[in-house]
Amino acid sequence: MEAKIEDIGVILPEAEELTRPAVDEAKVYELVIIGGGPAGLTAAVYSARKRIDTLLVTKDIGGQVLLTSDVENYMGYYYITGKELIEKFKHQVRQYPIAIKENAEVIRIGKEDKTFTVETSGGGSYRTKAVIIASGKRSRPLNVKGEKELVGRGVTYCSVCDAPLFTGLDVTVIGGGNSGLTAVVDLVKIANKIYLIESLSSLKADPLLVERADRSGKVEKFLGYEVMEILGETRVSGIKIKSTQTGEIQTLAVQGVFIEIGLIPNSGFAKGVVELNGWGEIVVDCACRTNVPGIFAAGDVTTVPEKQIVVAAGEGAKAALSAYGYLLGES
Ligand SMILES: Cc1cc2nc3c(=O)[nH]c(=O)nc-3n(C[C@H](O)[C@H](O)[C@H](O)COP(=O)(O)OP(=O)(O)OC[C@H]3O[C@@H](n4cnc5c(N)ncnc54)[C@H](O)[C@@H]3O)c2cc1C
Repeated sequence: MEAKIEDIGVILPEAEELTRPAVDEAKVYELVIIGGGPAGLTAAVYSARKRIDTLLVTKDIGGQVLLTSDVENYMGYYYITGKELIEKFKHQVRQYPIAIKENAEVIRIGKEDKTFTVETSGGGSYRTKAVIIASGKRSRPLNVKGEKELVGRGVTYCSVCDAPLFTGLDVTVIGGGNSGLTAVVDLVKIANKIYLIESLSSLKADPLLVERADRSGKVEKFLGYEVMEILGETRVSGIKIKSTQTGEIQTLAVQGVFIEIGLIPNSGFAKGVVELNGWGEIVVDCACRTNVPGIFAAGDVTTVPEKQIVVAAGEGAKAALSAYGYLLGES
């Protein structure tokens, strides 16, 4: 086997990529994994290494990591971009015979005896003995006037994807947590002026991010302000905000609105199937088991605290090993 020098300076064997097995609706898989983020991809590698016949069903490969510009806390890489990290994950997945159904949205999980059916919006239906739900989270909407109407016309939920569209313009970022401040840090290199709006009286983001934003000299903060309306006919032209303390209303002229107010779990299809908590997260025990034998869950979609890539990957590994134990018991 030939060796190649990776950019991280380590000599690794040149692994051959396998041809992916075809997706087969007629068979009963041993395991279906829902979601292609860090949790789902790690679960897929672990399950394949246990020779579990696995199908991964997902809307995309990468999940939220595709929206992340810089990753500085995934062990093994002191710095890597989100896209590069996902390329490395994909490369590792390709070393194993894992069937993958991409661009597929799961809408229902059914149960019949000891077999589950995973159904997608495109009409695909896959039978399996066990399921791992690793469907992660998505952006929370602001739910104000003008938001829905102007999505893609100045309103965005992804600074990594859309920041370059606002070169030299004035923009606003809604949300003073890590997502909001990450967006601000992305935008200081691109936008002319950034208004940061947070409904609380202080920022919740890591001090390191706040310092980077402050150092730019481009950021004006509105703490204790709520968004009332996003203005604009065909494109965003401004935003109306109100002080939670004084009730004072201000209109800021901006061409872009980045909404970064948190995430909600992609668990709608699991409602009524497994137990969810008040926030819609899937309740799991420390072995990633849900309240339904044979259904496991991992990563951001679960009640496990700390939503991070390394945590999701670790939980994905655990879920696959738990599913392996379950399948052994069932066979
Ligand atoms: C802007 C931003 C920056 C971040 N920065 C960092 C960072 O620097 N370091 C860090 O450790 N973490 C960071 N995070 C958090 C990290 O990305 C997440 O914790 C991690 O991606 C969670 O992995 P996951 O696999 O559980 O879920 P996700 O990454 O959300 O993946 C879920 C997968 O499920 C798929 N899916 C969803 N619903 C369905 C469905 N119904 N049917 C089929 N497939 C479905 C999605 O398409 C996706 O492939 C950041 C997050 C964001 C948003």
